[in-house]
Amino acid sequence: MKKAKYLILSALFMASFSGFAQKEYKFSVDLTKPQDDKLTVELETPPLRGKSVIYHLPRIVPGTYSINNYGSYVSNFKAFDKNGKELKVEKLDKNSWRIAKAKKLSRLSYQIDDTWDTPEIEEDVFEPSGTNIEEGKVFVLNTFGLFGYFQGMDRLPYRVNITKPTGFYGSTPLVNQNKDGNQDLFVTEDYHELADSPMMYNRPDTVWLKVGNADILVSVFSPNDKFATKDLAADIKPTLEAQKNYLGGTLPIDKYAFIIYMSDDQNLTRYGALEHSKSSFYYLPETFSAAQLSKSIKDIAAHEFFHIITPLNIHSEEIGDFDFINPKMSRHLWLYEGLTEYASHHAQLRAGIIDLTTYLERQADKVESARTRFTDSLSFTAMSSDVLEKYKDEYSNVYEKGALIGLSLDLRLRQLSGGKYGTQDLMRDLAKIYGKDKSFKDAELFDKITELTYPEIRDFFRRYVEGGEPLPLKELFAAIGIDFVAMGQKQEVEKAFGVSFALLPGTRSILISSTEEETDLSKRLGLEELDQIVQLNGQPFDADTYATVLQDYEENYKLGDEVSFTVQRKMPDNEIKEVKLTADLQAVTVPFPTFTPLDSATPQQLALRESWMGRMAQ
Ligand SMILES: [Zn+2]
Repeated sequence: MKKAKYLILSALFMASFSGFAQKEYKFSVDLTKPQDDKLTVELETPPLRGKSVIYHLPRIVPGTYSINNYGSYVSNFKAFDKNGKELKVEKLDKNSWRIAKAKKLSRLSYQIDDTWDTPEIEEDVFEPSGTNIEEGKVFVLNTFGLFGYFQGMDRLPYRVNITKPTGFYGSTPLVNQNKDGNQDLFVTEDYHELADSPMMYNRPDTVWLKVGNADILVSVFSPNDKFATKDLAADIKPTLEAQKNYLGGTLPIDKYAFIIYMSDDQNLTRYGALEHSKSSFYYLPETFSAAQLSKSIKDIAAHEFFHIITPLNIHSEEIGDFDFINPKMSRHLWLYEGLTEYASHHAQLRAGIIDLTTYLERQADKVESARTRFTDSLSFTAMSSDVLEKYKDEYSNVYEKGALIGLSLDLRLRQLSGGKYGTQDLMRDLAKIYGKDKSFKDAELFDKITELTYPEIRDFFRRYVEGGEPLPLKELFAAIGIDFVAMGQKQEVEKAFGVSFALLPGTRSILISSTEEETDLSKRLGLEELDQIVQLNGQPFDADTYATVLQDYEENYKLGDEVSFTVQRKMPDNEIKEVKLTADLQAVTVPFPTFTPLDSATPQQLALRESWMGRMAQ
């Protein structure tokens, strides 16, 4: 994401000749003085020319594939000349301000609200790509939510000065140039590097890991101290070791930061992470159990960390020279997100962190999601190119079908090469040809991969990635002695009730508002509409407790366990009676994709499977 050394060289050249001030942005933010949950951003501008100039905050940033309008969170925008006289500013749209008399401009000042808790601003910014201000506690500074650039001048250097509260530490992939006192100074080559570097300021709980030759920072903010960084670091470390081996024994980075914010929001509906070149930022529920968090952090960290390969080191021009206002979308989300997701699970399989059964179960989930939640016949390249508008709702299929495309490509390559070449080799070859500063042309990638591999691969891309044919999983898995049945059957413990809950008006009590979609379990229990729930499994059940009670049920109840409801029910004679309803959990058969390793697999099939798994199947 960093290019165009030309601009910087020419800027230095001018500076040395004319004695002008250094052409750079000088930002400062004081975290000790938020006002009304807002931070003030000050900019000493680089020397400007021309009649007017346009200042932008991003409309969109790399990796989110959605429109966020960070300018919507800006208020009180002011421009000044060197004598402190205010200059005229015109707001052009959500993310753009035109300042008249550019030549006189010397300073900008504005306030930013945080994206996490400003519901009156109607943008939907996913938390890992947002900002959060909690005075005296924590500041989440995704830098693109605070700092902007002048149109056409995003390749100048940046100096960012942050005044922090005493005892606070800024976790970021950037190196602090000022180690004294409460002032941090960060210098970046350009806006792209700054935007690629999130910061979290809080009283530190950090651990440094060494993986290969890379220094890895893990920093966690857990508001109620429920989770400690050392435990999360212990979960992350084996995953990173597995990835290092998967990538051929070395990592293409020397420093990396995992910045993790745990939210104690009881009504949290979404969580996740955003990748950067040398870091990733996580927004995870502090209400998770230790086991849930351990699994999530392993899976999400594995995915985000793999982004150090693509799109960060293998990408098209659309990403290499990212336009923060009007980006063109690349057609290769199957590569950036799909292959990344595939590799994150495949590396765990190869390292023995998960076994083949678990791996195949996860793939079955992906097959089921891809076909029930998304349009399976949609061309993946068409979806990618139009993901911001037309196919917005199809985006999440990158983690489902996108990953299955990666899996299918890997198996096809191994089939064609007799087990000698797979997607790991392909990524290594592509990384050699391209890189952080060398983009591929979007339209040429499939031909390039075909050139590197086999003519048959062009046909694979044409039919299953550009076209909308269902992936040939049956045939590909047959080659490694595993039987895939798209419409198989699986046994699962039926735990869902299929009833709707509602609040009893004016109270914290919960009642059953509909049993229209009740499950067999609900029928066996005998739940009825308008039953007011008093207890579930012996625990009080109301608006304040239901989330934890349901979570406990979801996590801990197994086949054969007794489920109990205590409800208040209106009897035919209008009398209200307390009734206890019980039923045992039973298994049901549901249609589901299945993968079954065959006992009758031939030595050739087993050899190919072994090449894919990196070891013998247990
Ligand atoms: Zn991703």
